[in-house]
Amino acid sequence: MENIERESLEVDVLFVGAGPASLAGALKLRQLINAHNEQAEKNGGKSLGEISICVIEKGREVGAHMCSGAVMDIRVLKELLPNYEELGAPLESEVTEEDVSYLTATGKIKSPIIPPPLNNHGKYVVSLNKLIRWLGPIVEAAGVDIYPEFPGAAVLYDDNNQVIGVQTGDKGIGKDGEPRDNFEPGANLLAKVTVFGEGSRGSLTKKLVEKLKLDQGRNPQVYSTGVKEIWELPKGRVKPGFVMHSLGYPLPNDTYGGSFIYGMQNDLLDIGLVVGLDYRNPHTDPHRLFQQFKAHPHIAKMLEGGKMLYYGAKTVPMGGYFAQPKYYGDGFCLIGDSASFLNSQKLKGIHLAMQSGVFAAQAIFEALLADKYDDAQLKRYYDLVEGSYVKQELYEVRNFHQAFEKGRIWGLIESGLQYITGGAGIRGDLRNVKAGHEHMQKINGAPDPAPLQADKKLTFDKLTDVYHASVEHSEDQPSHLKILDPNICVERCTKEYGNPCQHFCPAAVYEVEEVNGGRRPKVNFSNCVHCKTCDIMDPYQIIDWVTPEGGGGPNYINT
Ligand code: SF4
Repeated sequence: MENIERESLEVDVLFVGAGPASLAGALKLRQLINAHNEQAEKNGGKSLGEISICVIEKGREVGAHMCSGAVMDIRVLKELLPNYEELGAPLESEVTEEDVSYLTATGKIKSPIIPPPLNNHGKYVVSLNKLIRWLGPIVEAAGVDIYPEFPGAAVLYDDNNQVIGVQTGDKGIGKDGEPRDNFEPGANLLAKVTVFGEGSRGSLTKKLVEKLKLDQGRNPQVYSTGVKEIWELPKGRVKPGFVMHSLGYPLPNDTYGGSFIYGMQNDLLDIGLVVGLDYRNPHTDPHRLFQQFKAHPHIAKMLEGGKMLYYGAKTVPMGGYFAQPKYYGDGFCLIGDSASFLNSQKLKGIHLAMQSGVFAAQAIFEALLADKYDDAQLKRYYDLVEGSYVKQELYEVRNFHQAFEKGRIWGLIESGLQYITGGAGIRGDLRNVKAGHEHMQKINGAPDPAPLQADKKLTFDKLTDVYHASVEHSEDQPSHLKILDPNICVERCTKEYGNPCQHFCPAAVYEVEEVNGGRRPKVNFSNCVHCKTCDIMDPYQIIDWVTPEGGGGPNYINT
C-alpha cells in the first residue's frame, strides 16, 4: 500500500530468502566477523564491533519452501561446519549405486557406463528441505537473526539507485485491497548491503535486474520446472544412496528434460521429472508428464505397493554462465539460483549456491572493513567467483543447455562434443539464444487434451498432489498472481496458445471459465506452490508473481 507510514529498521547486512546460499553466506560472514574481532581484541587492532546480520524468509518457517531432493557435493558444508557429522547433518547416504537409462514408451535401456558428468561417486543424496531445517537453527545460534513470515515486497533505492534495503510485505490487507483490523504495515529494512538469495526467478531479483539492466549483454535466462513426489515403499525396498536418471519417455524429442530418482533413509524414494521451460507445444503439462512417467512399466513396478506422501514443484535456472546477470552492484549482491549458480549439465546447484553465498560473505566482510559498499568494492565478490572452481565448473558447461535448442538427439551429440572440447562444442560459444517462452508455438486449432485419468494410487490429479504439499494462503488477501492485462487472456491467448497457464501450472491455480458466452481467467491463488513457472512461461509475459502475505505457500517436508 502506498502512502502509509512505515517503521524503518537498520541492520548491517540483510539476506533475502533463507535458502542454502543465504544461510551459508550469513554463517560465513558471522564467522569472519567473529574471527576478526577476536584477533583485534587480542592484538589491540580495530574491531568491527557489533555487526547485525539478518535473514528474512517468506515461508512460515525456515525450510518450509525448500524443495529439492538432490545429490550434493558437500565441500562447502565441510568448510563451513567441519563438525557437520557431530552436529547431525541430515545427509541421507553417500551415493551407493547409479543408473543412467533411456526410456522408450515401454522399455528401458540402461547405459553400460555412467557418463562422467553424471558420475556421483563421493557425493551425497540429500533432501534440501531437511538440510535447511537443520542448518537454520545452527546459523541462528551463531548470531544471525532469522525472521520467517517476512516476505520482501519491494527493493528500496536511494536517489542514486544504490540499493539500501527491502520493504517487507504488509499483513492484513483484504482481498478487496482494504486493510482489515489486524493490519500491520511492512517495515523498511535498511542495510549497508542487501543480498538477494530468493532462489529461482526471485520476485525482487527480477525487478532489480530489470531496473539496473543487470542482464544487458547476457543470454536470456532459461529455466526448467521440476515436479516431484516422495514415496514410502515397502520395508527394505529402497536402497539409500541409489541414484537413477533417465532421458526419453515421456518427453518428446523437442522438449528438454529428464527424470531423477533418489533413494533416501526410512524407505523413502524421491522421484521427479524435470521439464525444460523452452518447450514448443503449448499443451505441455509438466505435472501430467510426470504422472505418465510414473506409469511407465519399469517405474510403476518400482513404486508398486508404495504410498505417495509428499508433493512439490519448483523451477531451476538452466541458462548457466552466459545467462548469469551481473551479480553485484551498489549496495547489493545476488547469490544462488537468483544469480544462476547452477550446473545444468550435472543438475547440481546446492554447492555452487552455498559457495556463492560464502564468496559474497567474504566480499561483504572486506566492504565492512573498508566501510565502502559500492559497485567497485563489491566487485570483489565477482573476482572471487572468477578465480575459483565455481567459474571453472560453470564455464566448462557454458553451452550445455543451448545445445538442446534443436532437440534431444542433436543436443546429446553436441553436448558430447562439448565435453571433449572443454565446453565450446562445434558451434563455438552459443550467445543470443531465445528466452524459453519464445519457443512456444501457436496451437493452430488443436483441441485441449482430454483430462488426465488419475487412479489415485500411482497417478494423481493436481489437486490431490497439492494437498500433499500442505499449501496454505489466507483467502482474504489480494491474489499474489498479478495478470497485468486480463484482456490478452481472453482476446488473444485463448485463440493463439489455448491458455497454456492451465497446463504449465503444476498446482491447478489457473482455470478459464465460461461466463456469459465468453471466457475469463480464474486464479485459484491459494493453491500456489511458489514454483514461479507461470511468471517464466507465460507467452505474453503478463503474469507477475509477487510475494503473498508472509507465511503463505507450501509447507514442504522431506522434499
Ligand atoms: Fe507455480 Fe505459478 Fe502455479 Fe504458483 S501459480 S504453482 S507459481 S505456476
